[in-house]
Amino acid sequence: MEKKQFQSESKRLLDLMINSIYTHKEIFLREIISNASDAIDKLCFIALTDDKLGMTRSDFKIHIAADKDNRTLTITDNGIGMDLDDLENNLGTIASSGSYKFKQDMAEKPEDIDIIGQFGVGFYSAFMVAKKITVNTKKYGSETAYLWESSGVDGYTVTESDKADIGTEIILEMKDNTDDENYDEFLEQYRIQGLIKKYSDYIRYPIIMEMTKSRVKEETKDSEKPEYEDYTEEETLNSMVPIWQRRKQDVTQEEYDRFYSEKFMTMDKPLKTIATSVEGVVTYKALLFIPSSTPYNYYTKEYKKGLQLYSSGVLITENCEELVPEYFRFVKGVVDTADLSLNISREMLQHDRHLLTIAQNIEKKIKNELTSMLNNDRENYEKFFAAFGRQLKYGVVSDYGMHKGDLQDLLMFYSSTEKKLTTLSEYVDRMKEEQKFIYFATGDSIASIDSLPQTELLKSKGYEILYCTEEADEFTLQTLMTYKEKSFCSATNDDLGIENEENKEEEKDNSAILTFVKETLGDKVSEVTASKKLVSHPVCLTAKGGISFEMEKYFNAVQPDSGMKAERVLELNMQHSAVKTMEELIQTDIEKAKKYAEVLYCQALLIAGLPLDNPSEYTDLVCSLI
Ligand code: ADP
Repeated sequence: MEKKQFQSESKRLLDLMINSIYTHKEIFLREIISNASDAIDKLCFIALTDDKLGMTRSDFKIHIAADKDNRTLTITDNGIGMDLDDLENNLGTIASSGSYKFKQDMAEKPEDIDIIGQFGVGFYSAFMVAKKITVNTKKYGSETAYLWESSGVDGYTVTESDKADIGTEIILEMKDNTDDENYDEFLEQYRIQGLIKKYSDYIRYPIIMEMTKSRVKEETKDSEKPEYEDYTEEETLNSMVPIWQRRKQDVTQEEYDRFYSEKFMTMDKPLKTIATSVEGVVTYKALLFIPSSTPYNYYTKEYKKGLQLYSSGVLITENCEELVPEYFRFVKGVVDTADLSLNISREMLQHDRHLLTIAQNIEKKIKNELTSMLNNDRENYEKFFAAFGRQLKYGVVSDYGMHKGDLQDLLMFYSSTEKKLTTLSEYVDRMKEEQKFIYFATGDSIASIDSLPQTELLKSKGYEILYCTEEADEFTLQTLMTYKEKSFCSATNDDLGIENEENKEEEKDNSAILTFVKETLGDKVSEVTASKKLVSHPVCLTAKGGISFEMEKYFNAVQPDSGMKAERVLELNMQHSAVKTMEELIQTDIEKAKKYAEVLYCQALLIAGLPLDNPSEYTDLVCSLI
């Protein structure tokens, strides 16, 4: 019989499993049972429409049998089964959803065994405890049954088998015990019972095992020395009722946490668990989780948003995208409703009225929970915002700002006066009476914004400035346009809305030097003005019109030929000694004065974080003045 080879990634994975020193080898049972349950889900779904199958929901079961003499553990399901193609495609390659990340991790740190626990590597994990695996399976609708056998990396064989019933039987032949490892433990009924309770309690089909128990012999019942005998009895090991169907007060947070990490394959605890039960126009139960950290693939195409959708305990879809809006795509969870027909198609699902109402309710619920966290549990909200604040900002900007009203109160920005994150509402409450705008400044870091000369005047007036350190920040504020009727104003704007009488008078006297600098710089700047905002710095650049420097930088980075350029206004601090010296030089040494103008312009560019047109010319200029 020809031995077939596993695909190369699967081989590495297998190798890892076989030689695993992972301490939680026990998870293999969870993986096998979860596959069995998925297979039953599929057939159960078919049974709804196919009368010929002659099965109803209560006929579906998972069976476990431990044979200590032969050292085998057999897990049997009457689910959909596999045909030849399925065996090749599903058991010959890595099919697990975490496989991409797994491959990456393997490349980076092949020694790190903990990834097994993190991603749940499915079927192959059985090789942590078994030296040989046999899969005897017959698929629904197929005439032939198959026997798949493998003892590990050297490949597998497939032959026909005489299995009569639809479903799959997986026989694990346990590894030999070693000094360090006792594989017999996985054949002990109490150990198996414990594992099912721990990992597979919410599997919706009965997991049945023949249990050996002890009882008093009938005939010795009344005697003084009762004798005991062993007998066997089938027992359902799991409680089956899904956690979301249980009353909130009957479930501990630990149980929710465990469910969350098993269901969504994460080591994290949820930051917030939301369990709701709604009865009315629509009736549903939802169990939602806000993760405590950003999933590794969150901002990639691989991350799938959506909630699991069940109809009366039967899984309809793994990722029902319609149930959560894009800007709350970090929410994970389960929705179970009896209001949906079970054999609803994907297309019909999208337009289903009940589903739309549930989605609206869920959106409201998430928003309320976040608002309440913001108001009552600031520390956790800040954790949430660190993980998903960017998503909320994208939400404001997306769809032409359609959702800004819903999201604006959930936003936070770093405040120059509070030295921590603040909300827009808190900012507006603190605004000074005469303050016209909500000010913000953009830069790479808090420190770099802090030292921007443009913020000096605002700071000296005691005005609070919001620091935009993330790419999305400025776009977010521009999309909002106003908050509680206050407009946003960038610190680099030429008009900060601050009247300053002293400076106004000075402007008149400065026309000579301003004209001189403008003529020297030519088209590089559109205007040269006497600054109203500078205090200790000699110069700064401000942007006029709709395009800010940050937008210029952003667009030139993503689209280098966009030609996007902010209109530059050079502001001079007329009180600064460098500017005063330049003014004197206009009378005594006009060439040197021109060099001053060039150098000051270049400095303004540098402070604004914009590239110099010609860096070596600039250094030459500076040297010629030293
Ligand atoms: P995953 O479950 O993450 O897809 P696995 O490696 O655990 O990855 O399983 C691979 C595939 O093999 C499953 O997706 C399924 O198609 C198939 N499979 C495994 N066990 C069974 C089973 N008991 N019945 C039917 N199909 C199964």
